[in-house]
Amino acid sequence: MKIGLFLIIILLLSVLFLYLKNYWLINKNATYHAMKVSSYFDSNKINDYQNIDFVDRQNFAQEISSFLDKNYTSEEINLIYEYLSDSNIQKLLNLNYIDLKDFYQISNIDVLKINDYLEYQNIHKIPIKEAVTEVNLHLNEEFYSNVSTIKFPDSYTILVNKYNALPSNYYPKDLTNIGNTSLKMRARASRSLENLIADALTNNIVLIPFSAYRSYDYQEKLYNKYLETDPIQIVDTYSARAGHSEHQTGLACDIRSDEEIDTLTPSDYKWLLDNSYKYGFIVRYPKGKSKITGYKEEPWHLRYVGETHSKKIHDLNITFDEYYDLYLNNR
Ligand SMILES: [Zn+2]
Repeated sequence: MKIGLFLIIILLLSVLFLYLKNYWLINKNATYHAMKVSSYFDSNKINDYQNIDFVDRQNFAQEISSFLDKNYTSEEINLIYEYLSDSNIQKLLNLNYIDLKDFYQISNIDVLKINDYLEYQNIHKIPIKEAVTEVNLHLNEEFYSNVSTIKFPDSYTILVNKYNALPSNYYPKDLTNIGNTSLKMRARASRSLENLIADALTNNIVLIPFSAYRSYDYQEKLYNKYLETDPIQIVDTYSARAGHSEHQTGLACDIRSDEEIDTLTPSDYKWLLDNSYKYGFIVRYPKGKSKITGYKEEPWHLRYVGETHSKKIHDLNITFDEYYDLYLNNR
């Protein structure tokens, strides 16, 4: 009985082995075959063809031929198709050879920026992964240089910062009051903030919103007023220029513990850091991240991004700018 079972297992393993071997051979031969039937076949490159994993895509033969002409090895070509997005592959086909050794596993690379990443890493002495994200966020350029206008300002996950501005005439169409205050946020954010405030209260934490939606014009006046007392370099660390404020999105709210002070007590701040994500909010300008956000720590400033994203941002412990580049920016 035991021997019978043993033989059956051996038989099954043999069948599996033959299947995998065939699959591997077919896969290897498929590239050779695709090249053979195309007009790009080069008999000097048969060895390369046999080492390149077949990928079922349009223009495969033409692309393989082009990569080999640029002196990519078959090993590199396999990595290109395994890791790079289609748009990066298209860009790569229009460039001379680039050594991507350190970049394959970094999901948010743009192959057009490889030199910028390396240069930035060299200056700042940081891991290449961080250099990629920071260059993607334009941190290798001065704040407020090369500003882009945000295309879909009604998205709950828009990135508004020193490089991405809202149109001056933008205002959210669904502004509603937060509880019985005169402050307004977009409907979903407003309801979530009411829940957050109510739940905080059951923990004996009093949270008072004191600034929410602000129009472009209002922000412009506010920023100019700050300029009367502080030099621009200082004002830029605590106030956004018009069009660059999250308050114009209707998704941000400043919260305080007391009518007398414009901030939170350390314990209330701790509660928000630990709990605001459950209501779709994040602390947008956290401690030690001003290099990325461009603002000094603002315990009071909450941004609504929705619960799926707020949980991930909380768990990853990264800024919204970094999160946006890693997970929301289509490339
Ligand atoms: Zn704020």
